[in-house]
Amino acid sequence: MIEFKCKACGAPLSIEKHQSIAKCEYCNVSQTLPNLSNSKI
Ligand SMILES: [Zn+2]
Repeated sequence: MIEFKCKACGAPLSIEKHQSIAKCEYCNVSQTLPNLSNSKI
């Protein structure tokens, strides 16, 4: 899992690698995640 901070409230979000959108449990804001898997395959 990856830790990502909510842009709105700064709460830590636990997301899976394949996710491209995360929804904050705290402030309910959906945010697009930066390209985490910067495809170096
Ligand atoms: Zn939030």
